Amino acid sequence: VEGIPSAGTFEGIPKIRKVAGASAGPRCKDKVVIITGTNSPLGIGRATAHQYAENGAKAIFICDFDSKYLDIHKREINSLYPAVDVHTRQFDASDEASVKAVVDEAVEKYGRLDVFFANAGISSGKMFYDYTAEEFMKMMKVNALSVFLAAKYGSRAMLKTSPSKPYPSGSIIGTASTAGIRSNAGTTDYSAAKAAVISIMQTCSYQLSGTGIRCNAICPGLIETGMTNAMFESARARGTEKKIGQLNPLKRGAVPDEVARVVLFLGSDEASYMNGQAIAVDGALSAGHPYVL
Ligand code: NAD
Repeated sequence: VEGIPSAGTFEGIPKIRKVAGASAGPRCKDKVVIITGTNSPLGIGRATAHQYAENGAKAIFICDFDSKYLDIHKREINSLYPAVDVHTRQFDASDEASVKAVVDEAVEKYGRLDVFFANAGISSGKMFYDYTAEEFMKMMKVNALSVFLAAKYGSRAMLKTSPSKPYPSGSIIGTASTAGIRSNAGTTDYSAAKAAVISIMQTCSYQLSGTGIRCNAICPGLIETGMTNAMFESARARGTEKKIGQLNPLKRGAVPDEVARVVLFLGSDEASYMNGQAIAVDGALSAGHPYVL
């Protein structure tokens, strides 16, 4: 395998060839990272920014359509991890010029981009026959086009600036959903958009053959975030919270940090052979038939 140096021998047998940068210590040391969908105080994006900061990232661009909490997030991250450069950007993740601009800025400031986590998303919940074509296209735009744009501009920057082509190189991660793996009652447009995210990441991983850039989709199950908070709150108020996780083998929903840790892994050099995958972080929701046990 080219790019992974041999490590010598021990008593005549070869030592294990280890991936550069994947040793013990901060797992994403000095990485330059863009994360979209980071404003929500309860969201996966914010939790992921904390994981990258805790694990040695040099710079993190936290970007969101809604900028209400971005400065607070920046101050909090800096209070915990003062060495990290945190940049806030109010932007629409489905707007081509905005995505290009933040990638250009990362390259201009730091000379490279290592990780693009395209996480911004919106949800829905009407019957499919009640949707207008415009509503359907908005879902595709925010949830799927945004991931395509992250892959397009993220990979262009990584191809130009990767310090050690062809290996290891950059990582692009798109947030899909278990709804993109299997149908999800009541969310036709959401499921379609999330299936598109998986398809975009898998196709890009092939089109980027030989570059070392890895593209993966994560597929969260039921996570308590800004998107699902109302549902959890109303179940708590009715005393039916346990029912939410009833069909899940782990019998619960998850917190954003449980997804963030997987995203950290995918962005790190430890995930050097993870490419083109749809990784479910769902407590096995998508793994079997939901019999009540
Ligand atoms: P959240 O609502 O807490 O966070 C989503 C963030 O995306 C918000 O801050 C929102 O302002 C931002 N956003 C929306 N449209 C945007 C746009 N056009 N440009 C930039 N930012 C935009 O919800 P979350 O659960 O943390 O969502 C993160 C991702 O996880 C989404 O893609 C969502 O579809 C996905 N997801 C969530 C769950 C879950 O159970 N919560 C399950 C599967 C997938």
